Amino acid sequence: MESIIGRISQGKFWQFHGGIHPPEQKALTSSKPIKQLPLPIQLIIPLQQHIGRQGDLLVNVGDNVLKGQALTQSSNPMAVPVHASTSGIISAIKKSAIAHPSGLSELCIFIDVDGKDTWQAREICHDFTKLTQQQIIKKIADAGIAGMGGAGFPTHIKVNTKPDINFLIINAAECEPYITADDLLMCEQSEAIVDGIRILDKLLNPAFILIGIEENKPRAIKALQHATKAFEKISVCVLPTKYPTGGEKQLIKVLTGKEVKSGTLPIHSGIVVQNIATCFAISDAVIHDIPLIKRVVTLTGQALNKPQNVWALLGTPVSHLLKQTGFISEKNSAVTSPPVIMGGPLMGFSILNELVPIVKTSNCILAPSRAEMPSAFDNSSNEVECIRCGQCSDVCPSQLLPQELQWSAKAKDHQQLIKLNLFDCIDCGACAYVCPSQIPLVQYYRVAKAEIRQQQQFDLKAEKAKIRFEARKIRLEKEKVAREEKHKKAAAARKIAMSKRSADGGSASSAVADALARVKAKKKANEKTVSDSSTTKNDDSDDKSQVKAAIARAKAKRLAKNKVSELATINNAEVNTVNDIQVSINNEIKPVNELPVSSREKPSNSSDVKQENHSADDKKAKIAAAVAKAKARAKEKSNATQQSVQPLSISSDDDAQVTPIEADEADNKKARIAAAIAKAKSKARAKAKTKAKEEQDKQLKIERSEELKPTNEESE
Ligand code: SF4
Ligand code: SF4
Repeated sequence: MESIIGRISQGKFWQFHGGIHPPEQKALTSSKPIKQLPLPIQLIIPLQQHIGRQGDLLVNVGDNVLKGQALTQSSNPMAVPVHASTSGIISAIKKSAIAHPSGLSELCIFIDVDGKDTWQAREICHDFTKLTQQQIIKKIADAGIAGMGGAGFPTHIKVNTKPDINFLIINAAECEPYITADDLLMCEQSEAIVDGIRILDKLLNPAFILIGIEENKPRAIKALQHATKAFEKISVCVLPTKYPTGGEKQLIKVLTGKEVKSGTLPIHSGIVVQNIATCFAISDAVIHDIPLIKRVVTLTGQALNKPQNVWALLGTPVSHLLKQTGFISEKNSAVTSPPVIMGGPLMGFSILNELVPIVKTSNCILAPSRAEMPSAFDNSSNEVECIRCGQCSDVCPSQLLPQELQWSAKAKDHQQLIKLNLFDCIDCGACAYVCPSQIPLVQYYRVAKAEIRQQQQFDLKAEKAKIRFEARKIRLEKEKVAREEKHKKAAAARKIAMSKRSADGGSASSAVADALARVKAKKKANEKTVSDSSTTKNDDSDDKSQVKAAIARAKAKRLAKNKVSELATINNAEVNTVNDIQVSINNEIKPVNELPVSSREKPSNSSDVKQENHSADDKKAKIAAAVAKAKARAKEKSNATQQSVQPLSISSDDDAQVTPIEADEADNKKARIAAAIAKAKSKARAKAKTKAKEEQDKQLKIERSEELKPTNEESE
């Protein structure tokens, strides 16, 4: 390392492979100060202006925004916020053409500028040395700073690295022709740039800080030497002019002699490289609380009346910049699109839409004249076959084989392109610059890189989908195994339960058989009950007929007696009639009580018996009441009859005498009483039967449900 510093102090540097010396064309703008432009009418701010992801929107259409206000934010470290470059109102959020070789569209925030340029509240830091590293990194991240040399890598990630940094290299080479933005920035803002370098020094604490600047910027060299003379750690390294010294790997090689191998990063060699414009942005963010909302842009080319470096607000349409510098369009001179290039003549790309906005990585707008750059006006390709001259390989700073890369790119052989280290190509355009066949080699490489990246995205998505599919498959398998295990356990538990049951009172099958037997027995019992009911019905009919027969017999007897005793023995007949009633009532009661047990309704169980007894008691009570009532009535009548017939003095055995009419009335009464008794009995029997049937049905249901229970448990 000491030898490196020794060489640098002696002004000796290393050489990188290849390189070219194109006409510089920097004099067009290098002598003019950076110009402040009037505000544009509208700003178009793309959400993504860096490598990584775009942030989430913080604003809506119609919102008023202040200068410096954040428009997006995200917790993803690769998402850098964007800010309002001036105050105004959000007029639209939609897709619009952005600064990209393909001319693709991305989501942009349109701000209608109010012309007031009103700042949001800011917090000035008077001594950044008192800030912690994390506070500084947060300020850089919140300011939305991304590499301003062209790569656009988020700066807060690049500076948030492990210690043991040997070299912090500040890239001030600005090697591409025409571009003088960094040159002028160094001339005018050297103090602020050095503040930015010191902030980086605090973050990274490198052993040495080297500012690499080409010798074609004498004013900037002087300004930097003056601004850094108080800081021994910082060395201003004046390098020979050669394109592309400003390439990261090439600058490292020139300053330290170290090669950054393919597939590795400078940090792996203990080196961090930052662009000089990024240092200025860091200073603005940390000290002045100014987010990245503007940058110096070189407006150059012979098609401009007043080529000059300008402070351009991010989001300013290219058309506004061209208008400010007196752009002379040669549209009408047999060209279909304006020959405006974003970037330099070697690494830039034509823009098809003048509404394309300036972004964080835009450093130059080149509007060449036809005489200056005829190829920009010629849409027809002058490309011819490769003659294998090898000049492209000779100048390639990345030591690639440009002609082979071109063949593989044409064949879309992505595997071969990767083998040829296509991604080490820095798009410097040196190969195309020297190609005698005028093959636009860089265009082939850009297209091939885009295709490979797209394919990699597809592959990544497919891989993710495959991983998700495999994970789902494994999950389903696990669920299936768990389910089977659960079923096995349940079956085992059932088996154990059944074994226990069989141990308690027979096998499981016998338990089921027992349950079935119980159901059958119940069925039989029910059937028997029904048949018994029908038998009882028949018995009841017999009882009824017996009662009727008894009544008929009583009637016949009475009539016979009446005939025998004739009218003279009316009193005796009356007494007999009363006795007959008594007899008939007794006969009515008798059939129920005296009937043999077998002929009565047989209750199926104890509850039935109880019910039956209860019904019988009710019947008896009712019958007894009816008999008592009938007797009382008969007695009353008898007394009345005796009193009424006493004067007749008809002799008889019992000394009772009645008239024939009274005897007929007595017969009728007896018949009515007998009929009432029969009716009451019939009603009582019918009621008792209905009640008994309901009770039986209820009991049967309960028993059936009890018998079915074990079957359900087993099925579980
Ligand atoms: S410079 Fe052009 S012609 Fe020569 S080898 Fe390379 S691609 Fe082919
Ligand atoms: S554009 Fe790529 S291949 Fe061509 S010289 Fe530059 S680095 Fe090499």
